[in-house]
Amino acid sequence: MKKVLILEDETSIRSFVVINLQRAGYEAIEASSGEEALEQLRKNPDIGVAIFDINLPGMDGFEVCRTVRATNKSIGIIMLTARTQEMDKVTGLMTGADDYVTKPFSPAELTARIDALYRRIGGEAGGTSDELRQGPFVLNTRNRTLEKAGARIKLTQVEYSIVKLFMQNPGRAMSREDILAAVWGRDYDGELKIVDVNIRRLRIKIEDDTSNPVYITTVWGYGYKWGA
Ligand code: CA
Repeated sequence: MKKVLILEDETSIRSFVVINLQRAGYEAIEASSGEEALEQLRKNPDIGVAIFDINLPGMDGFEVCRTVRATNKSIGIIMLTARTQEMDKVTGLMTGADDYVTKPFSPAELTARIDALYRRIGGEAGGTSDELRQGPFVLNTRNRTLEKAGARIKLTQVEYSIVKLFMQNPGRAMSREDILAAVWGRDYDGELKIVDVNIRRLRIKIEDDTSNPVYITTVWGYGYKWGA
């Protein structure tokens, strides 16, 4: 199982991350201080991605990042930033970290970043690379199938392509034009309404309550957003 270290001193945030990492199929290793994180990294050299909170008592996240990077070039590092002011510092620190996520973040956002980082660093040890897991959904890109809470949902090829696009871009507002171009191709000159028609059908298949969609939400006057 792919290992992810989460360094965060606030127990509630750490537990929240751990639960969501486990749900996404990762083994989560916890640390509540920089010193503990370094110790865990020594004990678990197979940790592929580490998430470092910046605000910590004692050694801060930047220092941990620098220390780890000094001896380990291959590990993926994601910084957790609490405030926008920290973003500048993070940009300056990009020497060490690979990515950063701003609090508050959604579980889908964080796991998508970890997945992407794992792909980039080539840390795909298991055979899970053909599966996208978010919330109750598992999309198998080899078989082109979708499951919701273990039950197969029958999709057309177009619906499958839309779900795949969404699951690759969790939490991101996608315009109708983007969806049309990605699913139907840049040369398609049909109407944007085809997107809405397919979304409506998809909602019937995947939402618990189509009048109150939670997985595919409407971004008014723009398009749609996936959140699972
Ligand atoms: Ca903290």
